[in-house]
Order: sequence, then C-alpha cells, then structure tokens
Amino acid sequence: MTISNSASPSDIEAQKSPPVKTESIPQKDGVGEDVPLIQPACTPGLYGYDETPEIIRSPYLLTGYRLYYSWGQCFRSMFQVHNETVNILTHFFGGIFFLIMMIYSATLTARVAVAQCIYCFAACTLLFASTAYHTFSVDLPKYTLFLRFDLSSICVLIALSYVPPVSFGFLCYPTLVTIYLVIIIVLAACASVVCILPCFLPCRVLRASLLLVVGWFALFPVGNAVYLYGWAGAWPLASRLLIMGGFYSVGCFFYLSRIPERFAPGKFDNWGHSHQLWHFFILAAAIYHYWAMISLYADQAAIGRC
Ligand SMILES: [Zn+2]
Repeated sequence: MTISNSASPSDIEAQKSPPVKTESIPQKDGVGEDVPLIQPACTPGLYGYDETPEIIRSPYLLTGYRLYYSWGQCFRSMFQVHNETVNILTHFFGGIFFLIMMIYSATLTARVAVAQCIYCFAACTLLFASTAYHTFSVDLPKYTLFLRFDLSSICVLIALSYVPPVSFGFLCYPTLVTIYLVIIIVLAACASVVCILPCFLPCRVLRASLLLVVGWFALFPVGNAVYLYGWAGAWPLASRLLIMGGFYSVGCFFYLSRIPERFAPGKFDNWGHSHQLWHFFILAAAIYHYWAMISLYADQAAIGRC
C-alpha cells in the first residue's frame, strides 16, 4: 500500500506489514481459501521504513520512500513530495546555476576563464549526478548504479576545485601549479576507486572520511603559500579555502550525525532532514568557491603577482 503525507493512523499501522498478493487455492471440500503468495504487490507508491530495502532507507526517516517506480515515474517524481524531493531539487537547480556560470565564465579573461570553466564543469557533474542518484534510487539496481556516479562525481568536484586556487594562488610558479594538480588528481582517483567498488558501498563513514582527507589536502598549498608570501601574503588564499572547507565540514557533520531527525524520528521525513542540510552546505560551498576564486584572482592581479 502507499503511504501519503495525510495518511491516517490506521494507514500508518497497516504499512508495517508489507503488501502481498493473494490467490484463491481450491481446498478438498471445494471451498477456496485466500493464501499469500511469496511475491510482494510491487505497486508503485510511497512506502514506510519497514517496507523499504535496508540499503535504500535512512534511519529515523519513517515515511516517503518511493518504491517500484518506473524510469518515467521516477522522472515525474522530481516535482512531487516525498523524502527525496528537496535532495533532488537543491542539486538540480544548483546544476542549472553552474551551467549558466560556465557560459558566463567563458567570457572572462583567458586565465580566469579556463580555471573557472573547469570548476563549473566539475560542479555541474556533481550536481547533476547527485540529482540523478536521488531521482532514480528507488530500487537496489538503480541505487547501486547511480550511487557510484554520485560518489565519483564528488571526487571529480573536489579534485577540480583545486584548479582555480592553485592556479591563482601561485600565478608566478607554474611548476608548483602542475605538481599540486597532479598530486590532488592522484589522491582523488584513489578516493574514486574506494567510492566505486561495490564492497565499499555500505561504508559511509570511510567514504566521508576519505573525502574529508582529500578536501583538507588544501592545507599543503596553503602552507606553501605562507612559506612563499608570509602569513599576510598567503591570507587571501588561506581565508577563502578555510571558509569553503568550513562549509563542507559543517555539511559533513549533519551528514554523519543524522541531526536533526535522530532526535525526532518521523518528524523530518520530507522537510529538513540531515541529507537536505548536507546538500544545502555543498551548494553553498560550491557557490562561495566560485565567487571567492574570482575575487582571489583580482586580489593577486592587483598586487602585481605576475
Ligand atoms: Zn545526496
């Protein structure tokens, strides 16, 4: 059966038993008797926590799981209310925003345009992959397929996020730029392997931790900038990366802690749960990073660094 937002208490009670098809089996005395078959009803709709496969459901979110949706139904559900709606739309509209910014970036001066277009491409990759993952993860095969795309795209974004700060932060040191970008791409590739291998799919803490390590690799180029320019000279780069890292870290805190829904299971099923907050902080970090790198280049150019 389906569970809507306005389900009555009896509906909610009924959802605890998975729906099953029944068939009339003839008995010896000729009277039919309804007995359950093994197969579930598989009726597309919104289901409860107990009816949803363990790998798809999220602790403390008790309703609003889409099950047995076709590809077309998944696509149409982007604009319907369930526990993935906000996850889908935050990154869908975020992806459109970065598509527009990529076109805009191409009109900037060549040095800025290349780095910012690469970054916008990475942001679009992540945001649209995430949109697809949240839109189509209604059964195990689709979930497994799109989760890999989603996680890989996070690695792509983190790696390519380094292109503008390293390029603009070391304008006069092209060799350093090359070294840093090679290191970060290798690190991100290793993280991608962990994200893509099916055996690591249930290890969300390991994945998040690895991504944090790759993200906080930024400390190395920042330390290098301090060595080259001194604290004051490195601050324009360091402060911007710290703020971006702060956005990601706060988002990770919500992602891992499952706050606020852990304190009120069932109260944040459709609106305001931790994964939605994680998405908002990713989007905020991505937008901030775009703006911060434009202003970093302006700062560097203003003080005559190459
Ligand atoms: Zn997500």
